[in-house]
Amino acid sequence: SSPQPALLEISDLRRSFGGVVALNGLALQVRPGTVTALIGPNGAGKSTAFQCISGVIRPDAGRVIFDGQDITGLRPDRITGAGLVRSFQIARGIPRLTVLENLLLYGQAQPGEGVAAAILRPAAMRAREEALRERARAVAARLNLTRVLDNQAAALSGGQKKLMEIGRALMAEPRLLLLDEPVAGVNPSLSAEIASHIGSLRDEGMTVLIVEHHMDFVASLCDPVIVMAEGRFLVQGSFEQVAADARVQEAYMGR
Ligand code: ADP
Ligand code: MG
Repeated sequence: SSPQPALLEISDLRRSFGGVVALNGLALQVRPGTVTALIGPNGAGKSTAFQCISGVIRPDAGRVIFDGQDITGLRPDRITGAGLVRSFQIARGIPRLTVLENLLLYGQAQPGEGVAAAILRPAAMRAREEALRERARAVAARLNLTRVLDNQAAALSGGQKKLMEIGRALMAEPRLLLLDEPVAGVNPSLSAEIASHIGSLRDEGMTVLIVEHHMDFVASLCDPVIVMAEGRFLVQGSFEQVAADARVQEAYMGR
């Protein structure tokens, strides 16, 4: 059987900061319907890769192709609008708003729907707002956040903040979700809960690319695992395969 085309394809991605080469020709592919991990030793270039993919910084060279479309160097909001959504390592909700309001904020970020639309098409705007609320409630329900929907984000536990951040990303209706360290600083039982939520999203057809240092989490959830080192692709396979690979062990021990 022929493999499905990649949802995300990166080729020859290069980026330096002054004299420091962070990305040195990175190439990788993410297949639809996978939870793919991107791992590698400190300084390998994982965060820089995520920033280039999501448009936060521009690569010096190379291509980022999402669903057949060249998104290299597009603004972050354009990339989000195309369906590639990044959730941040640090949960960045607005603390004084409720969970529901935080979810609605992300869902409303649609270009061309400002004050003019509200005046000219009030009924359509009300219908859209009600639909957004429905979606926010559905997103909250699937992440076990229903009980805290009306609580201030500031009052959430660390794990709930992580879930809310994933929820905010889901409000943007991603086809590819980038998660930067979704279980950093989270206790093991919550980490398992977050893994199970992400697994459910995949089972419903979502594609996810995760940078994460917790190898138990990666082993339990991610396939394939892509290892990068020194700004480049090193090897990919199942967690067991890459963990047993001498090149991977050397890359980690070389630090
Ligand atoms: P990782 O996320 O895998 O730990 P990074 O992408 O953060 O790796 O960093 C890769 C390399 O690029 C490191 O040597 C890091 O010090 C350097 N680097 C990353 N961002 C910057 C920056 N804004 N300015 C200077 N150097 C940077
Ligand atoms: Mg990093």
